[in-house]
Amino acid sequence: MIWFTGLSGSGKTTIAHVLERKLADADVPVELLDGDVVRENLSKGLGFSKEDRDTNIRRIAFVAHLLQRNGTFVITAAISPYRAMREEARMMAKDFVEVYANAPLAVCEERDVKGLYAKARAGEIKGFTGIDDPYEPPPAPEVEVRTDQLSVEESAEKVIDKLIESGYLK
Ligand code: ADP
Repeated sequence: MIWFTGLSGSGKTTIAHVLERKLADADVPVELLDGDVVRENLSKGLGFSKEDRDTNIRRIAFVAHLLQRNGTFVITAAISPYRAMREEARMMAKDFVEVYANAPLAVCEERDVKGLYAKARAGEIKGFTGIDDPYEPPPAPEVEVRTDQLSVEESAEKVIDKLIESGYLK
């Protein structure tokens, strides 16, 4: 289980897609559970209260658990703001690599990929992670990628290096 965490716009989805392609190209069975896609399907109807966020993460962890039980590498890319939920996911995983996509809030806000930071600042969205909702950074992630300093390619390579170093990949 390769578990991305980080603020909206920190680069989780972008790096996850590159990583997925690299693994697929190496004939590694891989699935990507992207936060936005999960919320459109598996978690449709859930909001952004702490309870709903926790439910969303539990569902992702559960599906990831089923997939990896069958030998599939699972990449998840959801904000997963709460440390306790990430630890729960870790407990459900056979093997767990937490990847902290880290860029300063100001950089994520400047990117504003989906225009959500502007809406949150304008008060049109309430409870937006990093603005008026908590983000608890991982104290000891297996991999940290500073996406304001590394390229997408370098970030994906850093994860691959960790997978090799940990014996999950040759
Ligand atoms: P998230 O999934 O964390 O919300 P996205 O991957 O959707 O973030 O958006 C990150 C944005 O930042 C993309 O537009 C991406 O092109 C850009 N970006 C710039 N540099 C990097 C980098 N080094 N790693 C990842 N994304 C980057």
